[in-house]
Amino acid sequence: MKVRTLPPGKKNAILAPHVVILGAGASIAAYKHWGETGRPLPSMQNLIDVLELREEVESRGYSAEGMDFESFYDDLVTSGADLELKQLIEQRTYEYFSSLGLPDAPTIYDYLVLSLRNKDLIASFNWDPFLLQAYRRNGDRGAGTLPGVAFLHGNVCIGVCHADKVCGLNGSRCSKCGTNFVPSKLLYPVKQKDYASDPFIASEWDRLRDHLSRAYLLTIFGYSAPKTDVEARRLMLEVWQENHHLELAEVEIVDIKPREELEETWKEFFIRQHYMVGTEVIRSYLFQHPRRSCDAFAAATLMCSPWHDNPLPEFRTLTELQDWVGPLIEEEARLDEFSEPFSGKPLAPNVEAAL
Ligand SMILES: [Zn+2]
Repeated sequence: MKVRTLPPGKKNAILAPHVVILGAGASIAAYKHWGETGRPLPSMQNLIDVLELREEVESRGYSAEGMDFESFYDDLVTSGADLELKQLIEQRTYEYFSSLGLPDAPTIYDYLVLSLRNKDLIASFNWDPFLLQAYRRNGDRGAGTLPGVAFLHGNVCIGVCHADKVCGLNGSRCSKCGTNFVPSKLLYPVKQKDYASDPFIASEWDRLRDHLSRAYLLTIFGYSAPKTDVEARRLMLEVWQENHHLELAEVEIVDIKPREELEETWKEFFIRQHYMVGTEVIRSYLFQHPRRSCDAFAAATLMCSPWHDNPLPEFRTLTELQDWVGPLIEEEARLDEFSEPFSGKPLAPNVEAAL
């Protein structure tokens, strides 16, 4: 018989984490949602052209037509044939992703960072700076209340001091020795990925594995677990299957792929029928119960006393969004300070929203 340990909680609040895993599809969804302004996000199919590398690739005798970047790059690394081209690709990739930026209006990334609490974790496979940009511009409002983040393939915004094992924003200085951070390594799409030898990447994976081993809800948004991510999948599944709340936990997949395909990809992560599949993150369980996803889920499934949905409206300005989550953050402070239970009721002010 499997253990059915209840997730830890107090006063209507669940203390077990909600883990959200982001793949390329999440950034593409965010980009489309904000109206596709600004530089486009490259896909593995058009990366060579977006990074303006076609000429260099073809002049070296490779065919760029219909090229899948993952296989091409993997061959390049495995064969060791053209170190110069490999370095050029890496340099252009870094520069391009560093140049991307969020628009002023609230984006899916802003909704994401404000929808979770500091017990939760957003783990991203993406190199782009969107998650950290959203984190920074909402951090003042909810200081200490935002979720943890982990960058599983490195990130263009992160710099490291290897001597002190400290990381921070690229371009800033190490708090211990005062030297400039060096850019963190980006992990490229090769079949034999090494998650252990780079200390920064290894620590990011440790954070994800720790949270997954205790998580109550797991949302996988726009991450398709490509074939070159065999090791990533193994590292996640190993700790997920050891999770003591697994029998009660729920997985939510947000992806535009056909349901059958997603069920096939993620079936090892599901416990019986404990999963949900949707195409739009705005309609996800997380966004129906922002900052209260685990708590609302426990009320509905463990207490048989479901809470009203409290869907996150879409806003025109960041201030409107931050004002909306304010009462939820205040309720969390009352729980911490005075052990006042969560009400389980929508707390947000009535605001005009265009959902
Ligand atoms: Zn240092």
